[in-house]
Amino acid sequence: MVQVDTLYTNANVLTLDNENKRADIVAAYDGNIIGVWTHEQYKQIKEVLVTAEIVDLKGKTMIPGFIDTHNHLLMYALNKGQVNCSSERNKSIDEILANLRVFGEKTNDDSWIIGYGYDDTLLAENRHPTRYDLDQVSTDRPIFIKHISNHLAVANSCALQLAQVDDSIQDPAGGHFGRDENGQLTGVLYEPAAMDLVFKYAPTPSDEEVVQLIERAAQDYLAQGITTSSDAGIGLVLGPKEYELHMKALQDDANPLRMRFMVMYDLLSEGGRFAQHSAEELDSQIQQDSHGKARLDSAKLFQDGSIQGLTGALRKPYYCDESLVGVLIMSQDELNQYVQDFHDRGFRVTTHGNGDRAIGSIIEAYQQAIDNSPKADHRHRIEHVQTATSEDLQEMKKYDIAASFFINHVYYWGDRHKRIFLGPERAERMNALKEASELGMLYTLHSDCPITPISPLFSIWAAVNRITREGNVLGENQKIDVIEALKSMTIYGAQLNFDEKTAGTIEVGKAADFAILDNDPTAVSPVELNNISVEMTIINGKTVYQKTAVKQ
Ligand SMILES: [Zn+2]
Repeated sequence: MVQVDTLYTNANVLTLDNENKRADIVAAYDGNIIGVWTHEQYKQIKEVLVTAEIVDLKGKTMIPGFIDTHNHLLMYALNKGQVNCSSERNKSIDEILANLRVFGEKTNDDSWIIGYGYDDTLLAENRHPTRYDLDQVSTDRPIFIKHISNHLAVANSCALQLAQVDDSIQDPAGGHFGRDENGQLTGVLYEPAAMDLVFKYAPTPSDEEVVQLIERAAQDYLAQGITTSSDAGIGLVLGPKEYELHMKALQDDANPLRMRFMVMYDLLSEGGRFAQHSAEELDSQIQQDSHGKARLDSAKLFQDGSIQGLTGALRKPYYCDESLVGVLIMSQDELNQYVQDFHDRGFRVTTHGNGDRAIGSIIEAYQQAIDNSPKADHRHRIEHVQTATSEDLQEMKKYDIAASFFINHVYYWGDRHKRIFLGPERAERMNALKEASELGMLYTLHSDCPITPISPLFSIWAAVNRITREGNVLGENQKIDVIEALKSMTIYGAQLNFDEKTAGTIEVGKAADFAILDNDPTAVSPVELNNISVEMTIINGKTVYQKTAVKQ
Protein backbone atom coordinates (compact mmCIF):
# COMPACT_ATOMS: atom_id res chain seq x y z
CA MET A 1 0.00 0.00 0.00
CA VAL A 2 1.09 3.58 -0.62
CA GLN A 3 0.45 6.26 2.02
CA VAL A 4 -0.83 9.63 0.78
CA ASP A 5 -1.23 12.68 3.03
CA THR A 6 -3.20 14.73 0.51
CA LEU A 7 -4.68 13.77 -2.83
CA TYR A 8 -5.52 16.75 -5.04
CA THR A 9 -8.25 15.60 -7.41
CA ASN A 10 -10.08 17.13 -10.39
CA ALA A 11 -7.20 19.54 -10.97
CA ASN A 12 -6.11 21.06 -14.23
CA VAL A 13 -2.42 20.45 -13.59
CA LEU A 14 0.22 22.37 -15.56
CA THR A 15 3.33 20.48 -14.56
CA LEU A 16 5.66 22.89 -16.47
CA ASP A 17 8.06 19.95 -16.81
CA ASN A 18 10.29 19.49 -19.88
CA GLU A 19 7.38 18.28 -21.98
CA ASN A 20 4.82 20.65 -20.44
CA LYS A 21 2.71 17.63 -19.53
CA ARG A 22 -0.77 18.04 -18.10
CA ALA A 23 -2.35 15.91 -15.40
CA ASP A 24 -5.53 15.66 -13.28
CA ILE A 25 -4.49 14.24 -9.93
CA VAL A 26 -1.50 14.92 -7.67
CA ALA A 27 -0.54 13.04 -4.50
CA ALA A 28 1.63 14.47 -1.73
CA TYR A 29 3.26 12.66 1.19
CA ASP A 30 5.52 14.15 3.84
CA GLY A 31 5.82 17.43 1.96
CA ASN A 32 6.79 15.87 -1.37
CA ILE A 33 5.01 14.96 -4.58
CA ILE A 34 4.66 11.18 -4.86
CA GLY A 35 2.24 10.92 -7.78
CA VAL A 36 1.14 12.94 -10.81
CA TRP A 37 -1.53 11.20 -12.86
CA THR A 38 -4.12 11.63 -15.55
CA HIS A 39 -7.57 10.20 -14.71
CA GLU A 40 -6.70 7.10 -16.78
CA GLN A 41 -3.40 6.52 -14.99
CA TYR A 42 -5.04 7.10 -11.62
CA LYS A 43 -7.57 4.33 -12.25
CA GLN A 44 -4.68 1.84 -12.52
CA ILE A 45 -3.13 2.81 -9.21
CA LYS A 46 -5.94 3.99 -6.97
CA GLU A 47 -6.51 0.61 -5.29
CA VAL A 48 -3.11 0.72 -3.62
CA LEU A 49 -3.42 4.26 -2.20
CA VAL A 50 -4.21 4.91 1.44
CA THR A 51 -5.26 8.53 1.47
CA ALA A 52 -5.60 10.70 4.58
CA GLU A 53 -7.19 13.74 2.93
CA ILE A 54 -8.74 14.48 -0.44
CA VAL A 55 -8.87 18.05 -1.77
CA ASP A 56 -11.28 18.31 -4.70
CA LEU A 57 -10.01 21.21 -6.81
CA LYS A 58 -13.16 21.22 -8.99
CA GLY A 59 -11.33 21.91 -12.22
CA LYS A 60 -9.15 24.71 -10.86
CA THR A 61 -5.63 25.06 -12.28
CA MET A 62 -2.66 23.81 -10.28
CA ILE A 63 0.82 25.11 -11.10
CA PRO A 64 4.14 24.93 -9.25
CA GLY A 65 4.37 27.59 -6.51
CA PHE A 66 5.79 30.88 -7.77
CA ILE A 67 9.44 31.68 -7.09
CA ASP A 68 10.16 35.43 -6.89
CA THR A 69 13.93 35.71 -7.12
CA HIS A 70 14.37 39.39 -6.24
CA ASN A 71 12.28 41.44 -3.83
CA HIS A 72 12.65 43.00 -0.41
CA LEU A 73 10.28 41.33 2.04
CA LEU A 74 11.64 43.13 5.08
CA MET A 75 11.58 46.56 3.42
CA TYR A 76 8.01 45.88 2.29
CA ALA A 77 7.13 44.74 5.84
CA LEU A 78 8.45 48.00 7.32
CA ASN A 79 6.29 49.93 4.82
CA LYS A 80 3.23 48.20 6.22
CA GLY A 81 3.44 50.29 9.38
CA GLN A 82 3.54 53.45 7.23
CA VAL A 83 1.25 55.47 4.96
CA ASN A 84 1.01 54.41 1.32
CA CYS A 85 1.71 57.59 -0.70
CA SER A 86 2.15 55.77 -4.03
CA SER A 87 0.46 56.82 -7.22
CA GLU A 88 -1.67 53.67 -7.19
CA ARG A 89 -3.51 55.33 -4.31
CA ASN A 90 -2.80 59.04 -4.74
CA LYS A 91 -3.29 61.12 -7.85
CA SER A 92 -2.44 64.45 -6.21
CA ILE A 93 -0.67 66.00 -3.24
CA ASP A 94 -4.10 66.68 -1.69
CA GLU A 95 -4.87 62.97 -1.76
CA ILE A 96 -1.54 62.20 -0.06
CA LEU A 97 -2.35 64.80 2.62
CA ALA A 98 -5.79 63.24 3.14
CA ASN A 99 -4.24 59.78 3.63
CA LEU A 100 -1.66 61.14 6.05
CA ARG A 101 -4.50 62.81 8.01
CA VAL A 102 -6.47 59.54 8.23
CA PHE A 103 -3.37 57.73 9.52
CA GLY A 104 -2.71 60.57 11.98
CA GLU A 105 -6.22 60.29 13.41
CA LYS A 106 -5.86 56.52 13.86
CA THR A 107 -2.63 57.00 15.80
CA ASN A 108 -3.69 59.94 17.87
CA ASP A 109 -0.52 60.73 19.77
CA ASP A 110 2.66 62.64 19.08
CA SER A 111 4.46 59.85 17.19
CA TRP A 112 5.91 60.23 13.72
CA ILE A 113 3.75 59.88 10.62
CA ILE A 114 5.88 58.13 7.99
CA GLY A 115 4.84 57.60 4.40
CA TYR A 116 6.41 55.87 1.40
CA GLY A 117 6.22 55.63 -2.36
CA TYR A 118 5.18 59.10 -3.61
CA ASP A 119 6.12 59.79 -7.24
CA ASP A 120 6.33 63.50 -8.11
CA THR A 121 6.23 62.79 -11.86
CA LEU A 122 2.83 61.12 -11.57
CA LEU A 123 1.15 63.60 -9.22
CA ALA A 124 -1.34 66.07 -10.73
CA GLU A 125 0.85 68.96 -9.50
CA ASN A 126 3.93 67.38 -11.14
CA ARG A 127 6.19 68.44 -8.25
CA HIS A 128 7.42 67.23 -4.89
CA PRO A 129 5.23 67.98 -1.90
CA THR A 130 6.90 70.54 0.41
CA ARG A 131 7.18 71.02 4.17
CA TYR A 132 4.33 73.55 3.86
CA ASP A 133 2.05 70.95 2.27
CA LEU A 134 2.84 68.49 5.06
CA ASP A 135 2.40 71.22 7.71
CA GLN A 136 -1.26 71.31 6.68
CA VAL A 137 -1.57 67.79 8.16
CA SER A 138 0.24 68.60 11.38
CA THR A 139 2.61 71.17 12.81
CA ASP A 140 3.16 69.34 16.10
CA ARG A 141 3.82 65.80 14.86
CA PRO A 142 6.87 64.96 12.72
CA ILE A 143 5.94 63.85 9.19
CA PHE A 144 8.39 62.22 6.78
CA ILE A 145 7.41 60.78 3.40
CA LYS A 146 9.76 58.84 1.14
CA HIS A 147 9.92 59.03 -2.64
CA ILE A 148 9.29 55.86 -4.70
CA SER A 149 13.03 55.76 -5.55
CA ASN A 150 13.99 55.77 -1.84
CA HIS A 151 16.56 58.41 -2.83
CA LEU A 152 14.42 61.42 -1.83
CA ALA A 153 12.06 62.33 0.97
CA VAL A 154 10.07 65.28 2.29
CA ALA A 155 9.89 66.32 5.94
CA ASN A 156 7.46 68.75 7.59
CA SER A 157 8.60 71.69 9.71
CA CYS A 158 8.19 69.76 12.97
CA ALA A 159 10.50 66.94 11.77
CA LEU A 160 13.08 69.47 10.53
CA GLN A 161 12.99 71.28 13.87
CA LEU A 162 13.36 68.06 15.82
CA ALA A 163 16.44 67.22 13.75
CA GLN A 164 17.76 70.80 14.21
CA VAL A 165 17.85 71.27 10.47
CA ASP A 166 17.26 74.93 9.60
CA ASP A 167 17.99 77.33 6.75
CA SER A 168 21.58 77.82 7.90
CA ILE A 169 22.53 74.14 7.47
CA GLN A 170 25.24 73.14 4.98
CA ASP A 171 24.57 70.37 2.47
CA PRO A 172 26.13 67.05 3.52
CA ALA A 173 28.56 65.21 1.21
CA GLY A 174 26.59 63.11 -1.27
CA GLY A 175 23.26 64.87 -0.72
CA HIS A 176 21.53 68.23 -0.49
CA PHE A 177 18.55 70.11 0.92
CA GLY A 178 15.88 71.52 -1.40
CA ARG A 179 15.66 75.33 -1.12
CA ASP A 180 13.34 77.98 -2.55
CA GLU A 181 14.52 81.14 -4.36
CA ASN A 182 15.14 82.81 -0.97
CA GLY A 183 17.38 79.98 0.16
CA GLN A 184 14.80 78.65 2.61
CA LEU A 185 14.40 74.91 3.06
CA THR A 186 11.49 73.39 1.12
CA GLY A 187 11.59 70.21 3.18
CA VAL A 188 12.73 68.07 0.21
CA LEU A 189 15.77 65.99 1.15
CA TYR A 190 17.97 64.64 -1.64
CA GLU A 191 19.81 61.34 -1.23
CA PRO A 192 20.23 59.29 1.97
CA ALA A 193 23.00 61.64 3.17
CA ALA A 194 20.42 64.41 3.67
CA MET A 195 17.45 62.14 4.46
CA ASP A 196 19.25 60.39 7.30
CA LEU A 197 20.03 63.67 9.07
CA VAL A 198 16.28 63.91 9.73
CA PHE A 199 15.15 60.30 9.65
CA LYS A 200 17.65 59.18 12.30
CA TYR A 201 15.34 60.87 14.84
CA ALA A 202 12.38 58.68 13.85
CA PRO A 203 11.83 55.76 16.21
CA THR A 204 12.56 52.32 14.77
CA PRO A 205 9.91 49.66 15.43
CA SER A 206 10.75 47.09 18.10
CA ASP A 207 11.92 43.62 17.03
CA GLU A 208 8.51 42.18 17.95
CA GLU A 209 6.81 44.81 15.82
CA VAL A 210 9.07 44.03 12.85
CA VAL A 211 8.33 40.30 13.15
CA GLN A 212 4.59 41.09 13.18
CA LEU A 213 5.04 43.28 10.10
CA ILE A 214 6.97 40.47 8.36
CA GLU A 215 4.05 38.17 9.15
CA ARG A 216 1.60 40.55 7.46
CA ALA A 217 3.95 41.03 4.51
CA ALA A 218 4.42 37.26 4.09
CA GLN A 219 0.62 36.84 3.98
CA ASP A 220 0.52 39.21 1.01
CA TYR A 221 3.14 37.10 -0.76
CA LEU A 222 1.27 33.86 -0.06
CA ALA A 223 -1.92 35.43 -1.43
CA GLN A 224 -0.05 35.89 -4.72
CA GLY A 225 0.90 32.19 -4.92
CA ILE A 226 4.54 32.68 -3.92
CA THR A 227 6.18 29.75 -2.17
CA THR A 228 9.86 30.75 -2.37
CA SER A 229 11.14 34.29 -2.10
CA SER A 230 14.59 35.88 -2.20
CA ASP A 231 15.28 38.92 -0.03
CA ALA A 232 17.60 40.92 -2.25
CA GLY A 233 19.72 42.53 0.42
CA ILE A 234 19.99 41.41 4.02
CA GLY A 235 21.35 44.48 5.81
CA LEU A 236 20.05 47.03 3.33
CA VAL A 237 17.65 48.89 5.66
CA LEU A 238 18.36 48.00 9.28
CA GLY A 239 21.91 46.69 8.97
CA PRO A 240 23.10 43.33 10.38
CA LYS A 241 20.11 42.96 12.75
CA GLU A 242 17.96 42.13 9.71
CA TYR A 243 19.49 38.66 9.91
CA GLU A 244 18.03 38.01 13.39
CA LEU A 245 14.68 39.58 12.49
CA HIS A 246 14.30 37.31 9.46
CA MET A 247 15.36 34.27 11.49
CA LYS A 248 12.92 35.08 14.29
CA ALA A 249 10.06 35.39 11.79
CA LEU A 250 10.99 32.02 10.28
CA GLN A 251 11.48 30.26 13.63
CA ASP A 252 8.10 31.51 14.93
CA ASP A 253 6.44 30.52 11.64
CA ALA A 254 5.33 34.14 11.28
CA ASN A 255 6.90 33.75 7.85
CA PRO A 256 5.87 30.43 6.24
CA LEU A 257 7.72 31.12 2.95
CA ARG A 258 10.84 29.33 1.85
CA MET A 259 13.42 32.10 1.91
CA ARG A 260 16.67 32.79 0.08
CA PHE A 261 19.00 35.52 1.34
CA MET A 262 21.25 37.79 -0.66
CA VAL A 263 23.61 39.21 1.95
CA MET A 264 24.88 42.78 1.54
CA TYR A 265 28.54 42.92 0.54
CA ASP A 266 29.56 45.05 3.53
CA LEU A 267 28.40 42.36 5.98
CA LEU A 268 30.68 39.91 4.16
CA SER A 269 33.73 42.18 3.96
CA GLU A 270 36.33 43.48 6.39
CA GLY A 271 34.69 44.68 9.60
CA GLY A 272 31.39 43.02 8.60
CA ARG A 273 29.59 40.45 10.66
CA PHE A 274 30.20 37.57 8.23
CA ALA A 275 33.64 38.71 7.02
CA GLN A 276 35.27 35.41 7.99
CA HIS A 277 32.60 33.11 6.59
CA SER A 278 32.91 30.99 3.49
CA ALA A 279 29.66 30.62 1.53
CA GLU A 280 29.35 27.06 2.77
CA GLU A 281 29.67 28.10 6.42
CA LEU A 282 27.16 30.93 6.07
CA ASP A 283 24.72 28.71 4.19
CA SER A 284 24.80 26.06 6.91
CA GLN A 285 24.39 28.70 9.60
CA ILE A 286 21.35 30.11 7.79
CA GLN A 287 19.84 26.65 7.41
CA GLN A 288 20.39 25.92 11.07
CA ASP A 289 19.12 29.28 12.34
CA SER A 290 16.02 29.15 10.14
CA HIS A 291 15.14 25.55 11.03
CA GLY A 292 15.76 24.55 7.44
CA LYS A 293 13.45 27.14 5.88
CA ALA A 294 16.07 29.46 4.41
CA ARG A 295 19.30 29.25 2.48
CA LEU A 296 22.03 31.59 1.36
CA ASP A 297 21.44 33.03 -2.11
CA SER A 298 24.49 35.16 -2.73
CA ALA A 299 26.73 38.09 -1.92
CA LYS A 300 24.96 41.29 -3.04
CA LEU A 301 26.65 44.25 -4.72
CA PHE A 302 25.37 47.39 -6.48
CA GLN A 303 27.02 48.92 -9.52
CA ASP A 304 24.54 51.70 -10.42
CA GLY A 305 21.27 53.35 -9.39
CA SER A 306 17.97 53.68 -11.26
CA ILE A 307 17.28 54.87 -14.79
CA GLN A 308 14.28 57.01 -13.83
CA GLY A 309 16.46 58.58 -11.11
CA LEU A 310 19.06 59.36 -13.84
CA THR A 311 21.61 57.38 -11.82
CA GLY A 312 21.59 54.21 -13.97
CA ALA A 313 25.04 54.08 -15.66
CA LEU A 314 24.51 54.23 -19.44
CA ARG A 315 27.06 54.02 -22.26
CA LYS A 316 25.25 56.73 -24.23
CA PRO A 317 23.75 59.84 -22.61
CA TYR A 318 20.23 60.08 -21.26
CA TYR A 319 17.65 61.03 -23.91
CA CYS A 320 16.51 64.06 -21.89
CA ASP A 321 19.97 65.37 -21.07
CA GLU A 322 23.03 64.93 -23.29
CA SER A 323 25.30 65.75 -20.36
CA LEU A 324 24.18 62.82 -18.20
CA VAL A 325 25.34 59.20 -18.41
CA GLY A 326 24.67 58.14 -14.79
CA VAL A 327 27.25 56.89 -12.34
CA LEU A 328 29.08 53.65 -11.63
CA ILE A 329 29.02 53.06 -7.88
CA MET A 330 32.44 51.38 -7.71
CA SER A 331 35.56 51.76 -9.79
CA GLN A 332 36.25 48.72 -11.98
CA ASP A 333 39.16 47.74 -9.74
CA GLU A 334 37.12 47.91 -6.58
CA LEU A 335 34.28 45.86 -8.07
CA ASN A 336 36.76 43.30 -9.44
CA GLN A 337 38.28 42.88 -6.00
CA TYR A 338 34.97 42.33 -4.25
CA VAL A 339 33.80 39.87 -6.90
CA GLN A 340 37.07 37.93 -6.83
CA ASP A 341 37.00 37.71 -3.02
CA PHE A 342 33.39 36.44 -2.93
CA HIS A 343 33.95 34.10 -5.87
CA ASP A 344 37.01 32.61 -4.14
CA ARG A 345 35.12 32.15 -0.86
CA GLY A 346 32.50 30.12 -2.72
CA PHE A 347 29.77 32.75 -2.91
CA ARG A 348 27.50 33.15 -5.87
CA VAL A 349 27.68 36.89 -6.65
CA THR A 350 24.63 39.05 -7.40
CA THR A 351 25.09 42.61 -8.66
CA HIS A 352 22.50 45.29 -9.32
CA GLY A 353 22.89 46.74 -12.83
CA ASN A 354 20.20 48.71 -14.67
CA GLY A 355 22.24 50.73 -17.17
CA ASP A 356 24.23 49.02 -19.94
CA ARG A 357 27.52 50.58 -18.75
CA ALA A 358 26.98 49.09 -15.29
CA ILE A 359 26.01 45.74 -16.86
CA GLY A 360 29.23 45.79 -18.94
CA SER A 361 31.28 46.57 -15.85
CA ILE A 362 29.69 43.71 -13.89
CA ILE A 363 30.27 41.26 -16.76
CA GLU A 364 33.93 42.32 -16.82
CA ALA A 365 34.33 41.70 -13.08
CA TYR A 366 32.63 38.29 -13.30
CA GLN A 367 34.69 37.28 -16.34
CA GLN A 368 37.91 38.20 -14.61
CA ALA A 369 37.05 36.20 -11.48
CA ILE A 370 35.95 33.20 -13.54
CA ASP A 371 39.06 33.34 -15.74
CA ASN A 372 41.34 33.66 -12.69
CA SER A 373 39.74 30.77 -10.84
CA PRO A 374 37.43 28.78 -13.10
CA LYS A 375 34.37 27.35 -11.33
CA ALA A 376 31.74 25.21 -12.97
CA ASP A 377 28.14 26.16 -12.35
CA HIS A 378 28.80 29.42 -10.51
CA ARG A 379 25.44 30.92 -11.60
CA HIS A 380 26.63 34.47 -10.86
CA ARG A 381 23.74 36.79 -11.60
CA ILE A 382 22.96 40.35 -12.66
CA GLU A 383 19.88 42.11 -11.28
CA HIS A 384 17.38 44.16 -13.33
CA VAL A 385 19.51 43.98 -16.54
CA GLN A 386 17.16 46.54 -18.05
CA THR A 387 19.22 48.05 -20.84
CA ALA A 388 21.57 45.17 -21.69
CA THR A 389 22.53 45.26 -25.37
CA SER A 390 22.53 42.11 -27.54
CA GLU A 391 26.30 41.94 -27.10
CA ASP A 392 25.94 42.14 -23.30
CA LEU A 393 23.46 39.26 -23.30
CA GLN A 394 25.72 37.19 -25.56
CA GLU A 395 28.67 37.77 -23.22
CA MET A 396 26.50 36.78 -20.27
CA LYS A 397 25.48 33.59 -22.04
CA LYS A 398 29.09 32.83 -22.93
CA TYR A 399 30.12 33.03 -19.27
CA ASP A 400 26.93 31.41 -17.91
CA ILE A 401 25.91 34.59 -16.11
CA ALA A 402 22.22 34.56 -15.23
CA ALA A 403 19.83 37.51 -15.56
CA SER A 404 16.98 38.50 -13.27
CA PHE A 405 14.87 41.01 -15.19
CA PHE A 406 12.78 43.80 -13.65
CA ILE A 407 10.01 43.34 -16.20
CA ASN A 408 7.39 45.39 -14.29
CA HIS A 409 9.27 48.52 -15.43
CA VAL A 410 7.77 48.18 -18.89
CA TYR A 411 4.34 48.87 -17.40
CA TYR A 412 5.20 51.30 -14.61
CA TRP A 413 7.86 53.48 -16.24
CA GLY A 414 7.88 52.34 -19.90
CA ASP A 415 6.16 55.46 -21.31
CA ARG A 416 8.54 57.76 -19.49
CA HIS A 417 11.58 55.67 -20.42
CA LYS A 418 10.56 56.13 -24.05
CA ARG A 419 9.71 59.83 -23.81
CA ILE A 420 12.18 61.07 -21.23
CA PHE A 421 14.99 58.84 -20.03
CA LEU A 422 16.04 56.45 -22.81
CA GLY A 423 14.27 57.49 -26.02
CA PRO A 424 12.30 55.11 -28.27
CA GLU A 425 15.12 52.86 -29.46
CA ARG A 426 16.53 51.88 -26.09
CA ALA A 427 13.12 51.82 -24.41
CA GLU A 428 11.73 49.32 -26.94
CA ARG A 429 14.32 46.73 -26.02
CA MET A 430 14.30 47.22 -22.26
CA ASN A 431 14.20 43.86 -20.50
CA ALA A 432 14.99 41.95 -23.70
CA LEU A 433 13.32 38.71 -22.63
CA LYS A 434 12.85 37.25 -26.09
CA GLU A 435 16.53 37.60 -26.82
CA ALA A 436 17.49 36.08 -23.47
CA SER A 437 15.13 33.20 -24.10
CA GLU A 438 16.42 32.58 -27.64
CA LEU A 439 20.02 32.63 -26.39
CA GLY A 440 19.09 29.89 -23.93
CA MET A 441 20.26 31.98 -20.97
CA LEU A 442 19.12 31.27 -17.45
CA TYR A 443 16.80 34.15 -16.59
CA THR A 444 13.93 35.01 -14.26
CA LEU A 445 11.45 37.85 -13.72
CA HIS A 446 10.98 39.79 -10.52
CA SER A 447 8.88 42.50 -8.88
CA ASP A 448 11.57 44.16 -6.74
CA CYS A 449 8.69 44.64 -4.27
CA PRO A 450 8.13 47.19 -2.68
CA ILE A 451 9.40 49.15 -5.71
CA THR A 452 6.47 47.57 -7.61
CA PRO A 453 3.68 45.45 -6.07
CA ILE A 454 4.33 41.78 -5.44
CA SER A 455 2.43 39.70 -8.02
CA PRO A 456 4.01 37.01 -10.22
CA LEU A 457 0.87 36.89 -12.37
CA PHE A 458 1.26 40.61 -13.02
CA SER A 459 4.96 40.13 -13.96
CA ILE A 460 3.94 37.28 -16.28
CA TRP A 461 1.24 39.51 -17.82
CA ALA A 462 3.86 42.25 -18.30
CA ALA A 463 6.30 39.84 -20.00
CA VAL A 464 3.66 38.45 -22.36
CA ASN A 465 1.96 41.76 -23.26
CA ARG A 466 4.54 44.51 -22.65
CA ILE A 467 1.72 47.01 -22.21
CA THR A 468 2.57 50.34 -20.57
CA ARG A 469 0.53 52.33 -18.09
CA GLU A 470 -0.66 54.55 -20.95
CA GLY A 471 -1.77 51.47 -22.89
CA ASN A 472 0.98 51.28 -25.52
CA VAL A 473 2.93 48.16 -26.44
CA LEU A 474 6.63 48.72 -25.76
CA GLY A 475 8.92 46.31 -27.63
CA GLU A 476 6.63 43.94 -29.53
CA ASN A 477 9.72 41.87 -30.51
CA GLN A 478 10.68 41.18 -26.91
CA LYS A 479 7.37 39.56 -25.86
CA ILE A 480 7.59 35.98 -24.64
CA ASP A 481 4.80 33.39 -24.63
CA VAL A 482 2.81 32.47 -21.56
CA ILE A 483 4.43 29.07 -20.90
CA GLU A 484 7.88 30.64 -21.09
CA ALA A 485 6.76 33.45 -18.75
CA LEU A 486 5.29 30.94 -16.28
CA LYS A 487 8.56 28.98 -16.34
CA SER A 488 10.57 32.13 -15.67
CA MET A 489 8.81 32.41 -12.31
CA THR A 490 8.80 28.69 -11.45
CA ILE A 491 11.36 26.27 -12.87
CA TYR A 492 13.82 28.95 -14.00
CA GLY A 493 13.52 30.50 -10.52
CA ALA A 494 14.31 27.09 -9.04
CA GLN A 495 17.36 26.86 -11.31
CA LEU A 496 18.51 30.31 -10.27
CA ASN A 497 18.16 29.13 -6.65
CA PHE A 498 20.13 25.89 -7.36
CA ASP A 499 16.88 24.05 -6.53
CA GLU A 500 15.91 22.53 -9.89
CA LYS A 501 16.06 18.99 -8.48
CA THR A 502 13.61 19.77 -5.68
CA ALA A 503 11.33 22.60 -6.89
CA GLY A 504 9.88 24.50 -9.83
CA THR A 505 7.78 21.83 -11.56
CA ILE A 506 5.07 19.36 -10.58
CA GLU A 507 6.99 16.08 -10.80
CA VAL A 508 7.43 13.10 -8.52
CA GLY A 509 10.19 13.67 -5.98
CA LYS A 510 9.86 17.45 -5.87
CA ALA A 511 8.47 19.52 -3.00
CA ALA A 512 4.68 19.80 -2.78
CA ASP A 513 4.68 23.58 -3.38
CA PHE A 514 1.69 24.70 -5.45
CA ALA A 515 -0.41 27.67 -6.44
CA ILE A 516 -4.06 27.00 -7.26
CA LEU A 517 -5.51 29.46 -9.78
CA ASP A 518 -9.13 30.25 -10.63
CA ASN A 519 -8.33 30.15 -14.34
CA ASP A 520 -5.87 28.51 -16.71
CA PRO A 521 -3.17 30.99 -17.84
CA THR A 522 -2.75 29.06 -21.09
CA ALA A 523 -6.49 29.26 -21.86
CA VAL A 524 -7.28 32.94 -21.24
CA SER A 525 -6.53 35.79 -23.59
CA PRO A 526 -3.01 37.12 -22.81
CA VAL A 527 -4.35 40.51 -21.72
CA GLU A 528 -6.51 38.77 -19.11
CA LEU A 529 -3.56 37.08 -17.38
CA ASN A 530 -3.43 39.63 -14.58
CA ASN A 531 -7.12 39.06 -13.81
CA ILE A 532 -6.47 35.46 -12.79
CA SER A 533 -6.60 35.08 -9.06
CA VAL A 534 -4.80 32.78 -6.67
CA GLU A 535 -7.25 30.59 -4.74
CA MET A 536 -4.85 28.62 -2.61
CA THR A 537 -1.14 28.37 -1.88
CA ILE A 538 0.49 25.18 -0.63
CA ILE A 539 4.01 24.86 0.76
CA ASN A 540 5.54 21.52 1.69
CA GLY A 541 2.10 19.89 1.33
CA LYS A 542 0.44 22.33 3.77
CA THR A 543 -2.17 24.89 2.77
CA VAL A 544 -0.70 28.22 3.85
CA TYR A 545 -3.19 30.49 2.09
CA GLN A 546 -6.81 30.07 1.13
CA LYS A 547 -8.86 32.79 -0.47
CA THR A 548 -11.86 33.39 1.76
CA ALA A 549 -14.42 34.92 -0.58
CA VAL A 550 -14.46 32.41 -3.42
CA LYS A 551 -15.56 33.96 -6.70
CA GLN A 552 -18.72 32.44 -8.14
ZN1 LIG B 1 16.05 45.27 -5.32
